[in-house]
Order: sequence, then structure tokens, then C-alpha cells
Amino acid sequence: MANIYFDYAATTPTHPDVLAKMLPYFTELYGNPSSIYKFAQGNKTVLDVAREQVATAIGADEKEILFTSGGTEADNWAILGVAESYKNKGNHIITSSIEHHAVLHTCEYLEKNGFEVTYLPVDSDGVVSIDALKNAIKDNTILITIMYANNEIGTIQPIKEIGIIAKEAGVLFHTDAVQAVGHVPIDVIDNHIDLLSISAHKLYGPKGPGALYIKKGVKLKAFIHGGGQERKRRGGTENVPGIVGFGAAIERATKFMETESARQLILRDYLIEQVLEKVPFAQLNGHPTNRLPNNANISFDFIEGESMLIMLDMQGFCASSGSACTSGSLDPSHVLLAIGLKHESAHGSLRLTLGESNTKEQIDQFVEALIKIVARLREMSPLYEDYKKNNEV
Ligand SMILES: *Cc1c(COP(=O)(O)O)cnc(C)c1O
Repeated sequence: MANIYFDYAATTPTHPDVLAKMLPYFTELYGNPSSIYKFAQGNKTVLDVAREQVATAIGADEKEILFTSGGTEADNWAILGVAESYKNKGNHIITSSIEHHAVLHTCEYLEKNGFEVTYLPVDSDGVVSIDALKNAIKDNTILITIMYANNEIGTIQPIKEIGIIAKEAGVLFHTDAVQAVGHVPIDVIDNHIDLLSISAHKLYGPKGPGALYIKKGVKLKAFIHGGGQERKRRGGTENVPGIVGFGAAIERATKFMETESARQLILRDYLIEQVLEKVPFAQLNGHPTNRLPNNANISFDFIEGESMLIMLDMQGFCASSGSACTSGSLDPSHVLLAIGLKHESAHGSLRLTLGESNTKEQIDQFVEALIKIVARLREMSPLYEDYKKNNEV
């Protein structure tokens, strides 16, 4: 049975063209970019090419791109780096309540170490409150870190508005753009972004490489202490094959973004429409229009997301949920709770994220399977029994 993959927000496959460009750097072209002979110097050049490819994708200069080992590291560096480098200016950080754990847990770590963090609320669509942001800025605020687009509900934040507010207040602005880069157009200058995190494996590149954009003039201290790599700020022999793949993937994603995102958006809307029309007691989570072109997040009353995932998996469908067990904790997704969902609805949610391989036929197959799965689970659900009794359905 073939897998039908609807979990592109979790990771994407490395595109074969990208892999082909990476392969020689594992075998023939294995030189260390720090070595002085010509054989290895070529590998220094390919790092520069990749740096340029990443920079171009977000409207930055290549000198402003520093490679990391993924999005989590880029988020850690941005936040811990500003905290350390700007602590003489203040100890207050503003973030949102719906960030990825790479941001939230880093902020929580700083709170235990003398920093003060404000977690901004979001509205029922998952949009950060601009008024709350303006009110939260104080004399000792050094950083605003708010994600570009949410990985669970897909909502895209008013990034430019936030950038302008940060700029006017003289506060640095970091955005976790891991879900957005390669999917929606991004320009760091136009949006007044000072720091931006990217990950290769969310845009058809390999797992591992990532980058932090650090705007010229922003002084961040070294994050990994070691050799002089990455402008002496992120030591360690560069992941040459990974970075080559990252560069190739981001260039490719940017090139096809307009057509591919438009295609996925049509599929996404079709998926949402079909599910809401054919499955009773279902509701869309996240902003209805201002959302990632590939994200659908839907809650189903009276049932567990976890059970839906298992039954979908038995039929070859890969998806995610905001339910408890997947994350290994009893609490449902902090994002779904932040947009005001009740615990039961948050537990009964499915995240479907589309990608290059998906077709309309797959969505039809999925919807057909889902209708039956939801009906079966509801038959077994005491919550649904109660509801029927109380409402005489
Ligand atoms: C996947 C993801 C990350 C983490 O990136 P890794 O490269 O897997 O470490 C961070 N933020 C968001 C929004 C993500 O979706």
C-alpha cells in the first residue's frame, strides 16, 4: 500500500535534483573548506554559492546568512544571541503564545535566567494582537520574536506591521520563518526583519542544514565556540553536502513557488471545502484566507485526533494532530488552546499539510476514508452518545 503523504509541515523529501547536486560532496569532493589546497578550496566556493542562493530567496545579502544545523539552532541562536549581546540594554523579550517550541522553550529558559518574557495573545484566527504588542514594548525590551507563519494552523502574521513597530521602538525583530520560506514570498528589507530562521528540510532540502539571517549591524556573539567558520560565530566544519543541498533546494523552491503555491492553495481549499461539507461537526482552525497555501487544520467534535491518525495510517495516510500522545504530553497543542479551542476540540484536530506530490485524486480518496473513520469513531464515542441524548439527534 502506497503512502499518501499529507504531512509536509513535519518534513519534506529531499528533491532528487537536490540530492544529485549533493552527492559528489560526500565522495569525490570531500575536502574541508578550511584547507588551503585547491582541491578543498572549491568547497569554500560552493558554500559561498549556497549562501548567495539562500540570501537571494529572502532579499538579503550573502554576508548576512550564517549556516546552522537547522531551524531549531537558528531560533536558539537568534534569541540567546540577542539576550547575551544586548543584555546591557535590557532584559525584556516579547514573543507570541503560538510559537514553535524552538522559540518558546528558549524563551522559558531565559526566564529562568533573569530575563522577562511577554507572551502575546492571539485572536481566534491565530493572529497576534498588534495592540497588545504595542502595549508590551518597554524601555528594557530588546527583542520581539514572532513567527512568520504557524506550523500547526498555518496562520500568517502581519509581519510588516510588526517590523515597523519594532523598528520605530528601536527593538530587534526576529522571525521564525521555517514554514514560510519557499512557500510564500519573503523580503527581509521590506518587512524590517533583523533576524530570520530557515530550515532546509521544510523546503525539499536535506534534514540538518539551516540558516540564520543576521542583518548587517546586528551584533550577535559567537554561538558555537570552535574554529573560525561562519565569520567566527558558528564554529565547526561546515556540512558541505547539506549546505549545497540547502542552496539548491531554496533556489528551486523559490523558482517554482508562484505556480506550486497556487496549485497547492487550490487543493487546500478543495480539501477544506470537502471535509467541512461532508463531515458533520467539523471546523477549520486558523485564519480562513491569510494562511499558508498548503495548510488545513480541522477539528472534529467528539473524537480523538490520535485515533483518527491511527486509522488513517492503517489506510496509508500520513497526517498530524494537535492531540496529546503525539507530543508525549497530556496537554493538547498550545497553539489550538491559544486560539480558544476547548480541550476536547483541540484533542480532536487533524493537521493536513500538502506538498508537491499531492493530487486532487488523493484528496478525494482521503475525504472518502475520513468520512468513514469519523463515523466509526463517533459510534464508539461516549461524548457523541451524550450529545445525541441531550439533543435528541
Ligand atoms: C520545523 C520547524 C522548526 C525546527 O526546524 P528544524 O530544522 O527541524 O530544527 C522551527 N520552527 C518551525 C516553525 C518549524 O516548523
